[in-house]
Amino acid sequence: MSKVDGIIEIDGGQGEGGGQVLRTTLSLSACRGMPVHIRNIRQGRKTPGLMRQHLACVKAISEICNAQVKGAAIGSTALEFIPSSIKAGNYRFAVGSAGSSTLVFQTVLPALLMASQPSRLTLVGGTHNPLAPSFDGIQHAFLPIIRQLGGDCVAQLHRYGFYPVGAGEWTVTIKPLTSFHPFVLATRGELLNAQARCLTAGIPGHVGVREKDRLLRRLKWPDLSIGISQVESLGPGNSIILQVDYEHVTEIIESHGALGVSAEKVADNAVDLLRRYQSTVAPVGHYLADQLLLPLCLGAGGSFVTGKLSEHCLTNIAIIRQLIDVPIKLEALESDKVWRINVGERYCPS
Ligand code: ATP
Repeated sequence: MSKVDGIIEIDGGQGEGGGQVLRTTLSLSACRGMPVHIRNIRQGRKTPGLMRQHLACVKAISEICNAQVKGAAIGSTALEFIPSSIKAGNYRFAVGSAGSSTLVFQTVLPALLMASQPSRLTLVGGTHNPLAPSFDGIQHAFLPIIRQLGGDCVAQLHRYGFYPVGAGEWTVTIKPLTSFHPFVLATRGELLNAQARCLTAGIPGHVGVREKDRLLRRLKWPDLSIGISQVESLGPGNSIILQVDYEHVTEIIESHGALGVSAEKVADNAVDLLRRYQSTVAPVGHYLADQLLLPLCLGAGGSFVTGKLSEHCLTNIAIIRQLIDVPIKLEALESDKVWRINVGERYCPS
């Protein structure tokens, strides 16, 4: 661990070099009361430095742990963050753009799970963004696992937020953990249910109909399992959410409409992502893998099986290793296609 004047130095441009490095560092800093200095923030991106959605994460976690912060401004490429004690409470965090509100939630969740009282958050911003978990992913894939770890969180969506307008709104109650349970997930088990939702807001109704037609043709699921919903949002938007519930895990696959992309392409993308998930036996999907690392490392550890390790996942592991002393072991099960990630002493015997 590299320290200057008792402050841990983190290179924000390492590995994948995006916003995840910043968020993981801040979450761990808040939970463990460790002062950090992050330089080269988002150096791996075309527009380095803090963007509005990253600044929203900094502000949210600062408020929760009453941190002293230097460098919290749009475009800033360095941040000093000195946390104090974690305060539960009733918070409202607005991204102020279509930036992802779910990533703000994931930044503050670990700290609030360790608080002394329950909290209630209102989150305003994007709820269904490309490049971030959607509200559906949080509600149906991520939170069920947090509950298995012992965290009692209930989320409710009040308004959808799509790129570019954003302004979605949702609430979540978080009861602190009394004890952490280890988490072990090796197999999916039987497929119990599969369904799709074609969501549209403020765009012609034929988009959802064409998406459903394409999904029906390619997935061969029963007609009733694919719904079309016109949802409430302050701006236009379109997302397809595929939900596959297995005995031991739920995976959410999402594909988002954009100007100039046909409804059929949006549906094809969803199907291709589902096929990628189903092409291995791994229960934990491509994106969920990097999102589970932090809760497992801060909790009682465990192990899970996932597919090919993403750059996000490897970068997150590298950051966690630089900040806390929790063993993480990677085991290839099927060449580089299926991996087991073991977290904690119990699951990484030396
Ligand atoms: P930037 O990449 O511009 O720095 P960022 O902070 O939004 O911005 P990343 O560092 O790329 O982005 O982190 C994105 C997070 O969102 C990761 O945890 C990743 O697993 C998750 N994610 C990205 N795409 C999806 C998706 N389609 N479904 C679910 N989760 C996703």
